[in-house]
Amino acid sequence: MDYLKKFDLSGKRAIVTGGGRGIGLEIAHALGQAGAAIVIADLDADGAAAAAAELSSCGVRASYRAIDVAKPDAVTALADELNAEQPIDVLINNAGIARIAEALDTSDADWLATMRVNSDAAFWCARAFGRHMIARRWGNIVNIGSMCGMIVTQPQNNTAYITSKGAIHMMTKSLACAWAKHNVRVNAVAPGYVATEMTVSPQIGTSFQYDRWLEQTPLGRMGESHEVASAVLFLASPASSYCTGAILSVDGGYTCM
Ligand code: NDP
Repeated sequence: MDYLKKFDLSGKRAIVTGGGRGIGLEIAHALGQAGAAIVIADLDADGAAAAAAELSSCGVRASYRAIDVAKPDAVTALADELNAEQPIDVLINNAGIARIAEALDTSDADWLATMRVNSDAAFWCARAFGRHMIARRWGNIVNIGSMCGMIVTQPQNNTAYITSKGAIHMMTKSLACAWAKHNVRVNAVAPGYVATEMTVSPQIGTSFQYDRWLEQTPLGRMGESHEVASAVLFLASPASSYCTGAILSVDGGYTCM
């Protein structure tokens, strides 16, 4: 058995939502290095263009689309357009937002925005791209969940985010069972705290209690985006051919405690 070949994505085409920066951009690098052509789909057109240029400079065949993946009609139109050009084999549902607030302080707008981006949009994308995958009897979807989909993080008990990530984990399992017979696999990665703009941007300042986070993480540090990307590459490639419906923790041991 040629084990390294199992990670080869040559000839495949992958779309990464929210791929303009952070974990999504690193996932795009991982899949691109494995041979896949990449489409970056991000709300921020400039960020998406810069990400595609960065990938191209590393020898990856990359393009981008500016899109709000929380808009189902736009997602369906994009899936139809891209698949007409060249089929999308791999969908990475990575776009996500975190609005930090305790339950009683959560506004209607923040609750709805969190659900729209973190769980509804993942379903719109899975449905739109999954339809084409099912028709071709080949496809692979990886959802970016969170350890927050499994446990309640402390000290910030961020009900909207936690609920949205629990939903994406169960959506993963439901679609995995529904689409296995069509040769479409659906898995998720559940990261712990990863150093990105979501967690360490200057806007956030000192509002997080990083000391508590590190105490609660057996490996004693935050994760790096590339550590999530490696796990996504495993799930997105034939290396994980017997995995579907899996939620792979990449959290430094956080959910063991
Ligand atoms: P970032 O905030 O760094 O990046 C998120 C990206 O998603 C941004 O480029 C953002 O664009 C884009 N995006 C947001 N909303 C939409 C939308 N409606 N349509 C298209 N693109 C959108 O986050 P991370 O890289 O840290 O997070 C990536 C994923 O990993 C998320 O799902 C997050 O919940 C999850 N995760 C992150 C953890 C962490 O500690 N960082 C831990 C566990 C899970 P724009 O800049 O324009 O808003």
